[in-house]
Amino acid sequence: MTDPYRSSGGEACPQCSTPLERSPESIVPGVAPCPNACGAWLPTTYLASLFDTSEIAREAHDAEQAEVRRYELPPCPTCSAPLVRAWLGAAPIRMCAEHGLWVAATSAGRFDAQLAGPVARHRRLLELMALLSHPDDASRREVAKRVLALEDRVAAIEAALRDHR
Ligand SMILES: [Zn+2]
Ligand SMILES: [Zn+2]
Repeated sequence: MTDPYRSSGGEACPQCSTPLERSPESIVPGVAPCPNACGAWLPTTYLASLFDTSEIAREAHDAEQAEVRRYELPPCPTCSAPLVRAWLGAAPIRMCAEHGLWVAATSAGRFDAQLAGPVARHRRLLELMALLSHPDDASRREVAKRVLALEDRVAAIEAALRDHR
């Protein structure tokens, strides 16, 4: 038996079934755009290197069921299971919990805008983790300085709120 999503030897666009291009020369490594510009497939492994994927909000199960009844959901390019609707902030996306996200071309702009915050936060987290993993005093001092700066800002905000009452 042939699997329509495997017979081409790779992943297919959930919207037009054209094989996806995951070339090493692609601008963002790991991202597989549809050659017909329907959208792009972002594998979970790639997403996990970008930001904390727990920030993606999945739609309520009831709503999913209602949608399944209304019309057929596009398939996951990797496993062919129906993609479910999810949100990254205000950007609607389709998701396979195991394999990745499908970002339709129509919501790509909104998705990029919503991604900026989580990506920046993740970069800062990685920086701090790198500092913490260095056993030298200079790195520890740098982390301690950042925590102190944060405590000072919280104290200042608390003081301002007290004065406001
Ligand atoms: Zn397509
Ligand atoms: Zn899948």
